[in-house]
Amino acid sequence: MALNDSISHVILTEEDIRARVRDLGEQIGRDYGDRPLLLVGVLRGAAIFVADLARAMTVPVELDFMAVSSYGSTTKSSGVVRILKDLDEDIEGRDVLVVEDILDTGLTLKYLLRNLASRKPASLEVATLLSKEGRQQVAIDCKYVGFSIPDEFVVGYGLDYAERYRNLPYIGVLKPAVYAD
Ligand code: IMP
Repeated sequence: MALNDSISHVILTEEDIRARVRDLGEQIGRDYGDRPLLLVGVLRGAAIFVADLARAMTVPVELDFMAVSSYGSTTKSSGVVRILKDLDEDIEGRDVLVVEDILDTGLTLKYLLRNLASRKPASLEVATLLSKEGRQQVAIDCKYVGFSIPDEFVVGYGLDYAERYRNLPYIGVLKPAVYAD
């Protein structure tokens, strides 16, 4: 079965995402100017966003990645965050921009930001492609937000359900039957 067949409706098209990522890239480039920026992509969900965001920027950036555990195969936040892969770079004194796929309860980012802040970066900000309305349990200050979306479980453009659908070029909602399998 093709991936598309599991989608009930599209929330953000490929074109919507491309335009917004281009704007975000320009805005971030303007904000940081000549200050060398380290983009920290949070694996695996943000892999596709960070790749496109980096290419939407014309200022020099470096890339590093962290991997944290989040939902496993279910669609509920466990609140338990583990670092599965740490940064390769030392971030002390660096301008760091954490790049996330989606801000849901905020528990993952809260943990991550506290952890990264303790390493004494010169600055620490967050860019998230998506933010779910009315879901945040902890306050997270995201400087760059791509889109606010309703409280629905979404897949595509890096976001998965049970490790599938990350390679859809758009963001959509799964048919209920997919969860029943
Ligand atoms: P939080 O800790 O609840 O903010 O969850 C953040 C992480 O949960 C994200 O980085 C995603 O990996 C995952 N997540 C939250 N909502 C969704 C969704 O709608 N689709 C896919 N993954 C999600």
